[in-house]
This record gives sequence, C-alpha cells and structure tokens, in this order.
Amino acid sequence: MEQNKTIKNPIPSAITRKGKVLIFSAPSGSGKSTLINQLIASGLQLHFSISATSRQPRGSEQDGVEYYFISPEEFRKRIAAGEFLEYEEVYKDKYYGTLKSEVDRNLDLGRNIICDIDVLGARNIKKYYQDQSLSIFIQPPSIEALRQRLENRGTESPEAIDQRLERAEFEISFAPEFDVTIINDNLEKARQEVLSVVKAFLQK
Ligand code: ADP
Ligand code: 5GP
Repeated sequence: MEQNKTIKNPIPSAITRKGKVLIFSAPSGSGKSTLINQLIASGLQLHFSISATSRQPRGSEQDGVEYYFISPEEFRKRIAAGEFLEYEEVYKDKYYGTLKSEVDRNLDLGRNIICDIDVLGARNIKKYYQDQSLSIFIQPPSIEALRQRLENRGTESPEAIDQRLERAEFEISFAPEFDVTIINDNLEKARQEVLSVVKAFLQK
C-alpha cells in the first residue's frame, strides 16, 4: 500500500494494519459452513462477515448471526443506496450481498474476516482485495455426496435441493480461479487443511 511520506509521526503499523479477507466458496452442501465454524472455533480471532439475504431463515438461523434477513424490497433499496460491495441473485429471486459497512468496520479495526460467498461474489471480492485476501474453494467428493448431505441436513425442500444441485457443476467450474481448493471428503482432514492454509496466509 502507498505510504504518505509527509507524515512525521505515523501511527504505529500495528494500529494502522488492515485486516485480511478469507473468501470461502463452495456448492451448497459441500460442508463450507461446517468448516468455517470449526475455523472460527479454532481461536484464530476471525470475524464472520454477515451478509444480507432475501431468502428466509432456515433451521436455527437468526437475524444478525448467519445473515441479516431482509425483504426483497429492502434488498433493492439497499442496492440503489450503494450499500453493497457486491451482490448476486444466487438462486431465482434469492439475493445475497456483502455490505460495505460490515466489511469496512472490521478491516479498519485490523480484524481478519471470513466471507462466505458464491463463486461470482468471490471473484469480485478477490479482484477488490487481491493479495490482502485468500480465496478457498471447498469441493465435494461428488455430486451424489452433495445430494446426500443436503438430504441429511434436512433444511431444504426437495425443489430447493434440486435447484442447488443444478448450480453445483457451474460452481465447480470456477475452482481453478481460487487460490486454494480443498476437497471435503474426510471432514477432519479437510478441517486440518483449512487451518493450515489459513494460518500460513495470516502469518505472511
Ligand atoms: P454448506 O455450508 O456448504 O452448504 P454444510 O456445512 O451445511 O454445507 O454441510 C452440509 C451437511 O453435510 C451438513 O449436515 C454437515 O454436517 C454435513 N457434512 C459436512 N462435511 C461432511 C463430510 N466430510 N462428510 C459427511 N457429511 C458432511
Ligand atoms: P445459503 O442459502 O446456503 O446460505 O447460501 C447460498 C449461497 O449464497 C452460498 O454459495 C453462499 O456462499 C452464497 N452467499 C452468502 N452470502 C453471500 C454474499 O454476501 N454474496 C454472494 N455473492 N453470495 C453469498
């Protein structure tokens, strides 16, 4: 980052240091949320960046924890007000977006953040934050395993599961664009791989 050379008494870099951005993407059902939650629990002081969405909460999800759940009208208003760093219609009529306020507040405090985001949003966020970010794609061992996991999770209707599986091939085709791809077959092995690449990146 360019330094202002005219500043005589700069604030110590530990205070001015911007946080880093961890970008996680995966087809729905790959185990991304499971791995992110394990990473957050590992004690690395990572902050989950809460996105806004117009989809309904599922299972035990709470407003302001997993997402800010807002109506499609409210979502459109916020798009018009320029409040999103990026947003996508990931599934038909289901909007998801990263709020500038959410990201800036944490990065300015030097916090490292986790963005759970679809492949198109990941591409945009990576372009924006470049080397300040690490993009990780969580890949399922197969499409059949995805179906099985989504059915076992039991949070989506059969139609919603089909919609998610239909998008999976498209999402997997983006894997080569990511800095790292981790196959989540054995959960414990994937957990260790995620922890290892994230630690190495944060130490850089
Ligand atoms: P995503 O956030 O990618 O949609 P989740 O983390 O919700 O996926 O995982 C989907 C389901 O698969 C959950 O029920 C989770 O417990 C299960 N799961 C995660 N990883 C594995 C794995 N390696 N093997 C089997 N089931 C898994
Ligand atoms: P889910 O409905 O399973 O929580 O999320 C569906 C998809 O939307 C996932 O791929 C998830 O990563 C993505 N997603 C969540 N938040 C955002 C966001 O802020 N922006 C974009 N572009 N995608 C998001």
